[in-house]
Amino acid sequence: KEEVNIISGALELRKKCVKDVMTPLGDCFMLDEEAILDFNTVTDIMHKGFTRIPVFSGTRDNIIAILFVKDLAFVDPDDCTPLKTVIKFYQHPINFVFEDTTLDLMLQEFKKGQSHMAIVNQVNSEGEGDPFYEVLGLVTLEDVIEEIIQSEIVDE
Ligand code: ADP
Repeated sequence: KEEVNIISGALELRKKCVKDVMTPLGDCFMLDEEAILDFNTVTDIMHKGFTRIPVFSGTRDNIIAILFVKDLAFVDPDDCTPLKTVIKFYQHPINFVFEDTTLDLMLQEFKKGQSHMAIVNQVNSEGEGDPFYEVLGLVTLEDVIEEIIQSEIVDE
């Protein structure tokens, strides 16, 4: 039974796209680039338990960096380090994908190993002005794997 599920899940990968499985922007835990890594902020980050945290500038749809929680290993909350200092130091690349990227292509991208998280963009061509990119949410390798095995992975 489980094997059948996995096989049909794998076959579905070509039909579903990242928009179907992503975490929508409103549910994403993110940090403002102006944040100070004091005790409160670091405690909040630890409690949320995510591995990677998008960092935005101004508004939440303007993602400019990714903070890895492991980047905080050398950060002492007593120093009240600005988040900007840490993201400038590490400069992890940000992966962007279009909302209609199919999950089999997304899986191939993740397998290349650069990053297991991508920010999901759509092109907004409504309205008068030029079309622009709009952030819809984030997708990780785990979201794709859950589609393959057709069940939720309960986080540690
Ligand atoms: P983590 O290692 O942080 O638990 P995973 O890659 O295992 O992240 O993903 C687990 C789930 O959490 C996925 O559904 C993913 O979309 C979601 N997720 C990952 N990072 C964040 C974040 N910063 N805010 C909200 N949801 C997130």
